[in-house]
Amino acid sequence: MFDASDGEEAWEMLCDHPAIELVITDINMPRLTGQQLLVRIRKSDNARIRQLPVIVMTTAEDNVDRNLAFLNGANDFINKPIDEMELLARTRVHHTLASTIRELEQSRARLAELATTDPLTRLNNRRSFFEQAEQHLVMAERYQTGLAIVLLDIDFFKKINDSHGHHSGDAVLVAMAGLVTDKIRSVDTVARMGGEEFALLLPGANRLGAAVMAERIRAAVEQHPFAAPDRVLRVTASLGIASLDVDQAQNTEELLAIADRRLYLAKNNGRNRICVNDQGKSNFQG
Ligand code: GH3
Ligand code: MG
Ligand code: MG
Repeated sequence: MFDASDGEEAWEMLCDHPAIELVITDINMPRLTGQQLLVRIRKSDNARIRQLPVIVMTTAEDNVDRNLAFLNGANDFINKPIDEMELLARTRVHHTLASTIRELEQSRARLAELATTDPLTRLNNRRSFFEQAEQHLVMAERYQTGLAIVLLDIDFFKKINDSHGHHSGDAVLVAMAGLVTDKIRSVDTVARMGGEEFALLLPGANRLGAAVMAERIRAAVEQHPFAAPDRVLRVTASLGIASLDVDQAQNTEELLAIADRRLYLAKNNGRNRICVNDQGKSNFQG
């Protein structure tokens, strides 16, 4: 419990002590009044401070101050002279309420993360990819800004699992996630779509831009020594590209299906390559 002799001192304590979970304040205080302290708390940039429960001490006859305190965001009031039992009861209620709200908010954030994140690689999952792609697709169509999707699938991944074990396979997936994340721009998104398949969402990119990015990633994968638990593995990947500047797609599924078709062509043409159109062409090799 902290005692402050005026509003300014109370404010400094609130900023310095994250352990403070509830505020009881008088209205009339020197330097910073109870009302001013309340306003400062509710307008704070710091969510912890902004959400603190505040109980205001008022005099029974003073409705004006009490009403203003509620308008300023007080959670409750208690009349002076203070009845200790009443103060204790109100403090308990607001303290419990605040910690319940905090726990709910933490669970909500945890659930949101679980629903959108792939647990192995910490990348966006398929569902999150679709949500983001839909939004970007709408923007790209409205403002004609372009959008490309690149699908990447690791070549002969089953062999890695079969020869070196599932743990090595998992290590390759995690390293691949890091490698691709390193190569993309801050506006781009990468997701694990399932198994050993990854998708890149490149807002603003046309076919050429997406091909440059895909080829850069292909070359980086080919050169990267993937560290498995007890050895270094060499891995390659195939990539298929679809982009709104040259491909007709009404929605994410359609754009993804085009990229998938080209990924399949890249596999058929020998793997470790990118494919930018339905003739199986790569701008760079093959
Ligand atoms: P291709 O070059 O044609 O893509 O061949 P591939 O072996 O990579 O493809 P295939 O679809 O035959 O095999 C994919 C393998 O990925 C099979 C599956 O057991 C493995 N796999 C899927 N998810 C995981 C995972 O989370 N961890 C590990 N270690 N393996 C996984
Ligand atoms: Mg594969
Ligand atoms: Mg696959």
